[in-house]
Amino acid sequence: MMWHVGTVIALQNETATARTIALQVPGWPGHIAGQHIDVRLTAPDGYSAVRSYSIASAPSSNGRMELTVERLSDGEVSPYLTEELAVDDRLELRGPIGGWFVWRPRQTEPVQLIAGGSGVVPLMAMIRSRASAASAAPFRFLYSVREPDAVFYRDELRAISDQGDSVLITYAYTRAVPKNWPRSAGRIDADLIANTTWPSRLIPTCYVCGPTSFVESVSVLLLACGNKPDKIRTERFGPTGDRQ
Ligand SMILES: Cc1cc2nc3c(=O)[nH]c(=O)nc-3n(C[C@H](O)[C@H](O)[C@H](O)COP(=O)(O)OP(=O)(O)OC[C@H]3O[C@@H](n4cnc5c(N)ncnc54)[C@H](O)[C@@H]3O)c2cc1C
Repeated sequence: MMWHVGTVIALQNETATARTIALQVPGWPGHIAGQHIDVRLTAPDGYSAVRSYSIASAPSSNGRMELTVERLSDGEVSPYLTEELAVDDRLELRGPIGGWFVWRPRQTEPVQLIAGGSGVVPLMAMIRSRASAASAAPFRFLYSVREPDAVFYRDELRAISDQGDSVLITYAYTRAVPKNWPRSAGRIDADLIANTTWPSRLIPTCYVCGPTSFVESVSVLLLACGNKPDKIRTERFGPTGDRQ
């Protein structure tokens, strides 16, 4: 797969530790919601590091895409992308990658999205793809996040919620909840899955994305509610295997 060179055209902070990077990529073939790319950084001495990042934006044919990167303070690549990268800088990238963890507008069945932390990124691409294709597919989204200030795409998600029942969004805060919140802070459990996700008899396609342990525990809970393994698509944001 060939490497493309993208130019940074805009930067926007999502939270205190996460930033959205908009890129213009000449010759980019386009993508399907849910896919990711590999980013390669090369130091002047030739040392290079490759990391995977999901595409946050809806599919488009104009070579523009957005990524959202969460900074890991002890990380090698994410501090650079969230703190040092500037508008007009160039980034090497290849892709799009992934053919299973994708949502296409021709899908009409109910969709259950479940994100942990930065796992929201490819699921946001699916929500945006649904909107840009004017799809009527029923979506529900369960978003597990540390605290209210850690929510990515806050205004856009609020606007989607305000539009009515097009995408039903439920937040599950793991460390701190907003004032007067009906649930205490905690991880997604059987009760939350049973009460906020589509019943398995509707045969939803489930997309689960986040840290490896999150994806594994949520998959077990979905199976326990009667969802079939082939209806649960997962993406693990663990450390990238391919390090060059
Ligand atoms: C398919 C795929 C898509 C991804 N999409 C995104 C995305 O959209 N946004 C995003 O911010 N990240 C995403 N990631 C994670 C990303 O690839 C990097 O792993 C992350 O940015 C850390 O890289 P780093 O070089 O800063 O840290 P490293 O130097 O690689 O690691 C620093 C420390 O953090 C640990 N660590 C590495 N990655 C993670 C992680 N994801 N969670 C917790 N601890 C970790 C390491 O074990 C190490 O101890 C994705 C990963 C995959 C596999």
